[in-house]
Amino acid sequence: MSLHSCTEDDYNRQFESGRYGEAVRYCEEQADGKLWVSNGEYDSQVNYCPFCGYAAAVQVERFVTGQSSLNQGADASAPSDGKV
Ligand SMILES: [Zn+2]
Repeated sequence: MSLHSCTEDDYNRQFESGRYGEAVRYCEEQADGKLWVSNGEYDSQVNYCPFCGYAAAVQVERFVTGQSSLNQGADASAPSDGKV
C-alpha cells in the first residue's frame, strides 16, 4: 500500500492565498499514519487531505477544553510546536 500524497500539480490549480503566499502546496501521509500539509517550508499535521478529503489513519490529537496540552508533559508523542 502506498502512502497518500496530493500536490497542487495533481490538480493543476492552487489554493487561494493571502498575505505571504500559499500555506498549503502538498499533502503527504507519513509511515506512522499521520497526514501533513506543507508549503515546502512550514508544515502542519491535519486530519483530512485538503485536496481530496482523504482521512488520516492517525488523527490530530484533540485539545481538551480548559487544559493546556503543554501541561500533560509525559506524552512525548504530542507535538508542541507543529513540527515532528
Ligand atoms: Zn489527497
